[in-house]
Amino acid sequence: MGFNPTTKDLRARGPAQAALHEQAAAAAFPIFGRKVYVRGVVEVSNFCRENCTYCGMRRDNRSLERERAQHDEIAELLIHQRPAAMTDVNLQTGEDPVAARDVVLPLIRTLRRETKLGLSVCLGTLDAEIYEELQAAGATVYILKFESADAADYERWQSPGKLEERLRHIRQLAAAGWKVSSGFIAGLPGQSLEKILANCELAASLPLHGCSVSPFIPGEATPLAAAPAGEVETTLNCMASLRLMRPDWLIPAVSALNIAQADTGYRRGLRAGANVVTINLTPGDLQRDYLLYKRERFIMDEARVLAAIAAEGLEPSRQSMTEQLEQNAAVPIVGPT
Ligand code: SAM
Repeated sequence: MGFNPTTKDLRARGPAQAALHEQAAAAAFPIFGRKVYVRGVVEVSNFCRENCTYCGMRRDNRSLERERAQHDEIAELLIHQRPAAMTDVNLQTGEDPVAARDVVLPLIRTLRRETKLGLSVCLGTLDAEIYEELQAAGATVYILKFESADAADYERWQSPGKLEERLRHIRQLAAAGWKVSSGFIAGLPGQSLEKILANCELAASLPLHGCSVSPFIPGEATPLAAAPAGEVETTLNCMASLRLMRPDWLIPAVSALNIAQADTGYRRGLRAGANVVTINLTPGDLQRDYLLYKRERFIMDEARVLAAIAAEGLEPSRQSMTEQLEQNAAVPIVGPT
């Protein structure tokens, strides 16, 4: 009964692709209506102990000013100056256990006390104790991308630890009651369509509430700086496939879609079934040196995300992602399991 994507779906272009995306966008309507979740992201630290070949924040990149945000500055921003449309916040870092404990944990406590925001974190693989403390403090969504479903590629690109370990953390977080969202990169150098498809299949087999797909962007100051970018069309087809596999998932339109396809990639993500958009609220200095791919990142602000939502005939949700996920959990989802 469930949708099983094939490489033909990933290759779809022209009318076949438009039909795939339309079908995908329609699959979300019975659960989410025309609602899109507007979250803010604050990148809290660009220290990273990992050395992912594709990522500009890798520890071997000595050209960055490494910095941790201050609790008070981010608390002030999120309590008193946040965009009105945003219902959720994601606090993200490089893999930096010090920032997780000293900045993110106190921020989660403050935000739980002072706001009704849904609270997500994306901090890499950490010890079980800090996961528990973050959850007890009020965070509900943990974002942990598995990056690549192919264990040999995972190792080759020096993704964090081992794939098996990353998957174990995803399962442990889910078992502990976190709503886990994962993700992968599509179009890493030499990645075949079969391997990209395996990412969709792995995602659908995990205990997730959401999944992102990011096109590979050759990162400045990385060993892959001269490699070709991942194809936006394949990325969009992966997003549509995931939506058809899991109509109940939160699927973000990532800002990298706009780097890869100036200004239109993001809207096409929404058209292919994405239902989460992200406003970047990282303060200036950190934003410049939170280098995932290139310095001239496409920064989405409130006006841009609201314009993209409206242009696609969708509407911003007033409910947070957390509230929606709790509601989804109460209603059995008919479709693939
Ligand atoms: N350090 C945390 C972790 O490991 O989960 C937080 C996320 S990490 C800083 C940011 C994410 O950006 C990575 O998980 C990866 O999927 C993505 N990313 C990094 N470099 C990329 C690139 N060149 N192209 C596409 N995505 C990339």
